[in-house]
Amino acid sequence: MTDPTGRVAIVTGAARGIGAATARRLAADGFAVAVLDLDESTAKETVNGIVAAGGRVLAVGADVSDAGQVEAAVARVAAELGAPTVLVNNAGVTRDNLLFKMTDADWDTVLNVHLRGAFLMSRAVQRHMVAASWGRIVNLSSTSALGNRGQANYSAAKAGLQGFTKTLAIELGRFGITVNSIAPGFIQTDMTRATAQRVGQDWERFVADRVAQIPVARAGVPADIAHAVSFFVSDGAGFVSGQVLYVAGGPRA
Ligand code: NAP
Repeated sequence: MTDPTGRVAIVTGAARGIGAATARRLAADGFAVAVLDLDESTAKETVNGIVAAGGRVLAVGADVSDAGQVEAAVARVAAELGAPTVLVNNAGVTRDNLLFKMTDADWDTVLNVHLRGAFLMSRAVQRHMVAASWGRIVNLSSTSALGNRGQANYSAAKAGLQGFTKTLAIELGRFGITVNSIAPGFIQTDMTRATAQRVGQDWERFVADRVAQIPVARAGVPADIAHAVSFFVSDGAGFVSGQVLYVAGGPRA
């Protein structure tokens, strides 16, 4: 196995939740990590934790759905940390509603952040990976890709990311780049707290209802997803590409 020291990873949406846990995990694995989020200042907590643990880290503010901001952010990472060869497309939002109540803005916002964001980030970072003849892209999908009431926009985006993953795996494989997708089930984060709030359910009750459906009988935590990312970006996973790994405490939660 090659030591990842010196390799640079970008994790989008890394100010909190799954992205923050992934940034911390990759830093602990030896990567220099760019903690990218909408607002540079919100990334501070993640950054401070990594610095305290002795890691190399950079906070970067950018909207992943904006091509200009993405290009500038990737250029800044390359200049200040080094050429990025690991990309975790994690930034995400929800705008849940039943189809008949879903607005154009609900649809566009979710598709733009998840799908357009992953496209723009991957296109900007791949040139550094191709130059290095090595790279790892991990896209955050979801069990919602299989269908979830009230999430026509989100499930379409998350299913789209699976097709995007498989196509990039085919196109980029010859350059030593693998592209995989992780589809989390129920993970305790601000995103799922917001869902509980939206449906008017007490958080403890909301968690208990979900755990009752999960074969391993517990809710997921961000570190569960970070662990799977750590595997996909490792050198040893170089023959694993174009896959979707459901990390859901069972075949589907
Ligand atoms: P989270 O706690 O809401 O964190 C998402 C992060 O993404 C936030 O820091 C957010 O910034 C950032 N973000 C949003 N829009 C962005 C943009 N345009 N550009 C850059 N950053 C942006 O969510 P999470 O639960 O950790 O989810 C992380 C990923 O896993 C998402 O892709 C989500 O769809 C997926 N996922 C989560 C679950 C789950 O159960 N939690 C399950 C399946 C899949 P702000 O705070 O400033 O908005």
